[in-house]
Amino acid sequence: MTTDYSQYAKLSPFELKDELIKLASGKANRMMLNAGRGNPNFLATLPRRAFFRLGLFATAEAELSFSYMPNGIGGLPKIAGIEGRFERFCADNRDQDGVVFLARAISYVRDQIGLPASDVLHELVEGILGCNYPVPPRMLRYSEKIVREYIVKEMVGGALPTRSIDLFAVEGGTAAMAYVFHTLQANGLVQKGDKVAIGKPVFTPYIEIPELEEFGLQEVSLDADPHAGWQYPDAELDKLRDPAVKIFFLVNPSNPPSVKMDDRSLERIAAIVAERPDLMILTDDVYGTFADDFRSVFAICPRNTILVYSFSKYFGATGWRLGVIATGKDNVMDAALKAQPQAERDRLTRRYQSIIPDVGKLAFIDRLVADSRVVALNHTAGLSTPQQVQMVLFALFALMDEADGYKAELKKLIRRREKALYRELGMAAQSDPNEVAYYTLLDLEEIARQMHGEDFAAYVLKVASAGDMLFKIADETGIVLLPGKGFGTREPAGRVSLANLNEYEYAEIGRALRRMADDLFASYQAGKTHDGGA
Ligand SMILES: *Cc1c(COP(=O)(O)O)cnc(C)c1O
Repeated sequence: MTTDYSQYAKLSPFELKDELIKLASGKANRMMLNAGRGNPNFLATLPRRAFFRLGLFATAEAELSFSYMPNGIGGLPKIAGIEGRFERFCADNRDQDGVVFLARAISYVRDQIGLPASDVLHELVEGILGCNYPVPPRMLRYSEKIVREYIVKEMVGGALPTRSIDLFAVEGGTAAMAYVFHTLQANGLVQKGDKVAIGKPVFTPYIEIPELEEFGLQEVSLDADPHAGWQYPDAELDKLRDPAVKIFFLVNPSNPPSVKMDDRSLERIAAIVAERPDLMILTDDVYGTFADDFRSVFAICPRNTILVYSFSKYFGATGWRLGVIATGKDNVMDAALKAQPQAERDRLTRRYQSIIPDVGKLAFIDRLVADSRVVALNHTAGLSTPQQVQMVLFALFALMDEADGYKAELKKLIRRREKALYRELGMAAQSDPNEVAYYTLLDLEEIARQMHGEDFAAYVLKVASAGDMLFKIADETGIVLLPGKGFGTREPAGRVSLANLNEYEYAEIGRALRRMADDLFASYQAGKTHDGGA
């Protein structure tokens, strides 16, 4: 190939993808297969049905308030008698799946979680109508309690008391990250030149953001070992013992290797935190729901950990923009704020004095809320209330699914795709209890080695340096993979998302890569014969 691909070397894999797509889609009579997208092609329908049914009930409630008004004007919904009216609505619409789900959801909230049904209903009805500012801005009162149950079930394995956790409802994992980075910096909890440990390979913004000029953080890489199922070796985790490391950024289960951290690593981190109680940890657990028996670092170090969770992937809801930031009520960020020197506390008093008379009492999580709207607009902060309602319905859908049927179906779906890919490629699929398989990393050198030995692997690396290889694949096969290197892998690898295409397409990707490898092997052998004759 003649194009100079080095010009793309600095692009994030998510931007580079557009160049690969151009190349992959450029040929007639050939289908492009874009395996670069993390956006799932599945989605949860029942909680969405419930959302739309609830919307109709809520609208009728609004119209009841001002029933003499013509021209489509309603009033704020009233709480008096709401439960009775809701029961009648459910009875009248029993043939609708979404309505049956709503009726079950309200009884779950009342009987299992122990919340007052009328108040919850009123919050949901007002919320879905979007007729009030989100109050409290951090998260609606009952919505927080319900989503907390979900987070504790899915992220913590039920091992923490729900009341020990605070949530901030945000516009997806993306907003969560932006808010957390900003507030850590604005409050002097991380400062220019501080060391930040990053578990790699990782979702690229976790590498790119700390490098931005306004953060100016010094990165310490913790490299997962591809030959140990992408777990972090003890020696890598031990880098966290350095007291200069202020915070540890972690995606767990990882992206792109897509494995959850094993128990050995969790225990090692707990031991390090016992020695270093000041260490802050930011864990992005977006894929936790796809793992077997998932346990977040938040479960074992709740004081030290800021947990980011997004509803985007598991519920197929990237367009909804739904996520939460969770912190323990007792946490090291608040402890660090209290221990700051007087001058720094005075500075922060000036920053937040419009919100609360005693800024010392303003918790880290409430500073996140304030900072999300440049402090002064704190009173109109918060996630839109219809978004919070859909979030609550997603959470209840998972909580009420006692046999975890939805989870089992999704896991089966992505794992079948993975099998099809590796089968057609002619390789054994991984079998690792920590594997999540939302993505898979194809290590090109390793594949070449397994197919035809060491010498061929060296040849493959030589004919196409790793970055160029993905362009070659896009050009010759129409397949788009994202470069592992951009995510911080040390090996030449391509990320295949198993979430976005159908099974037969993964089989096709496997076959196309196999054909390409066979072609490369043929020219490798031809070259050898030629060399031998010369
Ligand atoms: C997809 C993804 C996100 C972004 O989630 P949104 O809720 O869609 O903004 C965050 N972190 C990781 C690791 C992801 O893979």
